[in-house]
Amino acid sequence: MTAQLIDGKAIAASIKEDLKAQVAALASPPGLATVLVGEDPASHTYIRSKHRLCAELGMQSMHHQLPADATQEQVEAVIAELAVDPAVHGILVQLPLPAHLDEERVLARVPLEKDVDGFHPINVGRLAMKGRRPEFVPCTPAGCMRLLERAGVPLRGARAVVVGRSNIVGLPMALLLNHADATVTIVHSRTVGLEEILRQADIVVAAIGKANFIRGEQLKPGCCVIDVGINRTEAGLVGDVHFDSVKEVAGQVTPVPGGVGPMTLIMLMENTLKAAQKSFQVRELQPGGAG
Ligand code: NDP
Repeated sequence: MTAQLIDGKAIAASIKEDLKAQVAALASPPGLATVLVGEDPASHTYIRSKHRLCAELGMQSMHHQLPADATQEQVEAVIAELAVDPAVHGILVQLPLPAHLDEERVLARVPLEKDVDGFHPINVGRLAMKGRRPEFVPCTPAGCMRLLERAGVPLRGARAVVVGRSNIVGLPMALLLNHADATVTIVHSRTVGLEEILRQADIVVAAIGKANFIRGEQLKPGCCVIDVGINRTEAGLVGDVHFDSVKEVAGQVTPVPGGVGPMTLIMLMENTLKAAQKSFQVRELQPGGAG
């Protein structure tokens, strides 16, 4: 079997056109503020691509750079400023933060309505609960869900296995699949019997951070595989999935690069646009507002 490719680049490009039109229809542009503590080169690259995409969409973006030894108070002061800036609709704190900073306290400072990364503890709590709606869903799992939807993968009643339980990918991904009525198993580094669990999965989401970790021989024929991993190897960028063996067994698979990566970025833009639209609506409803 040769799996059908789920082309994240093409899907993100079509969403981009839609977002561009929505941005153009607004009276003033949505604004995204990024905050980076320290000089991690990979983080700089991610931030640059976010700003580039904002410009392409007609959105504003501003960057706040803090030194690697910035104090908790300094970081929180920057967020407090952005929290009250009416030109800023979304605030993105690039993770991970240096170890001396309290990440939870920093993220909790981002107002719920500007939490376009979806990592505010209240948004995460709402995502975990039945019948509650977070203001924003974390971008990578939201992008994976959109890929599944666009690829027409049935979710209700499907057996889904999420490999990885991180706060930014694995855990919210499992929660979203659960909300979509899949039967979800979370697998992690202490799981016993990984192979047996994988072989039952209709949907596999790999978010491990280990190059080529999941192989075709481990999978149920015809399953759908979403590869979140980004691993830099001598052979170039590869996922957590061994693409060549997986494509012979799976029914559908995302490539790396060009799968989940572009979706993460475009979901951030969609969240920022949504934040701006909501803020403009609130302003219109206020006494003396435009409406
Ligand atoms: P983390 O390191 O935070 O989490 C990795 C998870 O994998 C952990 O839950 C860990 O288990 C689990 N794991 C590690 N080894 C094994 C194993 N042998 N068997 C089963 N599970 C294992 O990584 P992230 O979630 O942040 O990222 C995962 C990958 O996704 C990375 O490659 C990252 O670069 C990529 N990524 C891609 C994005 C994109 O836009 N495409 C965005 C974000 C991340 P335990 O909890 O027990 O330690």
